[in-house]
Amino acid sequence: MTDRYDDQNIFARILRGEIPNKTVHEDDWALAFEDVAPKATVHILVIPKGPYVDYGHFAREASDDEILGFTRALGQVCEQAGLEGGYRVVANTGADGGQEVPHFHLHILGGEAIGPIRA
Ligand code: IMP
Repeated sequence: MTDRYDDQNIFARILRGEIPNKTVHEDDWALAFEDVAPKATVHILVIPKGPYVDYGHFAREASDDEILGFTRALGQVCEQAGLEGGYRVVANTGADGGQEVPHFHLHILGGEAIGPIRA
């Protein structure tokens, strides 16, 4: 997998305000917005503000402040979404992981029974 960041990817454009989004949370470290094609009743994407391709890139290159800030933002978004019954957090990574947008993001899926991960 590559660490080469494409600053024209759609989430980079959302971060620059070039494409509208339905923001549910924003702070210094993260932006969270509704997925445009939801795969569950609640489907929110949480992205770091820095230019990271995927989880491995983020974990390796982000500063401690970025990692802490992003992690706390994720927790806040999950709590504010009111997903009392539970939820799933997913990081699709690379081609085999089904990642389409090359800016690291976490999917929060909930609002209904998501069920177990199946092989
Ligand atoms: P990936 O497969 O993990 O890369 O997921 C990318 C997600 O981004 C998919 O669930 C898409 O529906 C979502 N998506 C793509 N473009 C937009 C957009 O402009 N706004 C919100 N979500 C988007």
